[in-house]
Amino acid sequence: MSDKKFDLIIVGGGPGGYVAAIRAAQLDMKVLLIDDRQGDDGKAAPGGTCLNVGCVPSKALLDSSKHYHHIQHDYAAHGISVDGVSMDVGTMIDRKRKVVKQLNGGLLQLFKANKIEFANGWGKLLSDRSVEVTPCEGDSYTVAGQHVILAAGSVPFTIPNVEIDGTHIVDNVGALEFGEAPERLGVIGAGVIGLEMGSVWKRLGSEVILFEAMDELLPVVDKDMSRAAAREFKKQGLDIRLGAKVAGADLVDGKVKVTYTKDGNESSETFDRLLVAVGRRAASEGLLGEESGVKLTDRGQIEVDAHCRTSAENVWAIGDLVRGPMLAHKASEEGVAVVETIAGQHGHINLDHVPWVIYTDPEIAWVGKTEKDLAEAGVEYKTGSFPFAATGRGLAMGDAAGHVKIIADAESDRILGAQIIGPTASEMIAEIVVTMEFAGASEDLGRIIHAHPTLSEAIHEAALSVDKRAIHKAN
Ligand code: FAD
Ligand code: AMP
Repeated sequence: MSDKKFDLIIVGGGPGGYVAAIRAAQLDMKVLLIDDRQGDDGKAAPGGTCLNVGCVPSKALLDSSKHYHHIQHDYAAHGISVDGVSMDVGTMIDRKRKVVKQLNGGLLQLFKANKIEFANGWGKLLSDRSVEVTPCEGDSYTVAGQHVILAAGSVPFTIPNVEIDGTHIVDNVGALEFGEAPERLGVIGAGVIGLEMGSVWKRLGSEVILFEAMDELLPVVDKDMSRAAAREFKKQGLDIRLGAKVAGADLVDGKVKVTYTKDGNESSETFDRLLVAVGRRAASEGLLGEESGVKLTDRGQIEVDAHCRTSAENVWAIGDLVRGPMLAHKASEEGVAVVETIAGQHGHINLDHVPWVIYTDPEIAWVGKTEKDLAEAGVEYKTGSFPFAATGRGLAMGDAAGHVKIIADAESDRILGAQIIGPTASEMIAEIVVTMEFAGASEDLGRIIHAHPTLSEAIHEAALSVDKRAIHKAN
């Protein structure tokens, strides 16, 4: 039993927990950060799902596979011919591992520089903000904190009759580690992760079929966006089967036989590998002792108020463990807001302005309300849009698929939301987030000077088009 006392104990070292730890150290708190994750080498691997098996490694593979795809399909139009192109999947996976390792090491250095105590082990909240730590090596001990932040993140959902074996049937972890491109890859779920990982392996030569139970692709964005996305994915050869609900998967002679129902008919397909990407759930199992006083919702998330307070005094919860979008930047901003609230400042997070990105090609990014949301809420709105095909820069780059749409309040002109499908949508959405955070109107964006020729001119023109005065298209 340790008698160590901390101002703040944080359970979970992902983008929610580690960012909270660094901000707390900046505010002179004595911090203990507990995270159980270890790398292949048995060493501590802070950074959570996001750094180790999520955001970062998936983007490393998306970038590698994009280079390979461009060389094969897009260079010829620029007059560049490349003979004998080949792909070594092992080198690609090694590069991804190095990127992750470098960032794991960077985090450990940041903890040291900020005098954050780091425990590589499992944390369990007992009562009165005491936490039992079970280190990856050594005996358990108990610590106490003035405050505790729970930031244990999420784990993948599974579905009945589909058992993850880590080799043939995998979740996100396995899909980032294939030793070679499977000849046929099945993906259950055409959500963010399914589309990103499906894109990686399609570009590397796999035949990819995605099964999506819903009848609509990406219902989180408006139909014009999801239709444009479906068109581009189809061109790339991704076979997305909507209204296809997977009932089970069996291993037969080293292959995976997937059974699914579509339009009332049962069919099957056989694959070399199957990725299950049907969403994620809060990692609340084993986190709370019986006396913790922390309530769960019926979905197993930690119940919190708008400031991330749980039902137990001075115990807070953030990130994938609680309501709201399961996104790394949302987790981080909640971490900062909670720590600043603890320090007596005005911690603040606006869930209405969290940007979303799908890193397919083209990228898809959005923020705020969709047309669908506003119609349901009875809010009068107007829209403006602009295609990248009408921008000089998009055409010069040879990357001009997609468009920008801006949605503004019909009366006040305040921007309520935006959606972008196109090159660098992940970067461009930031301009809209800033404008919305400053309560800006489409008129404001339309009057701001955008450099020429840039892709961001599509945002400028879409803003002008809200009032039917875009220059480079007929309004
Ligand atoms: P996590 O990152 O899950 O971190 C929690 C950590 O706590 C983990 O290391 C876990 O092992 C540890 N832990 C759990 N319980 C305990 C315990 N009791 N004691 C000690 N340690 C514990 N989001 C984006 O914003 N952008 C993206 O591009 C993106 N891509 C993704 C791609 C994939 C394939 C996946 C799976 C996810 C992706 N996400 C992305 C989502 C993002 O990873 C999560 O939203 C984010 O990691 C949540 O952060 P967190 O801090 O809440 O939890
Ligand atoms: P996301 O929540 O973005 O990770 O997406 C997960 C997707 O998986 C959702 O669009 C679900 O509709 C889909 N899904 C869940 N269960 C099944 C299933 N049994 N068969 C096919 N798709 C599924």
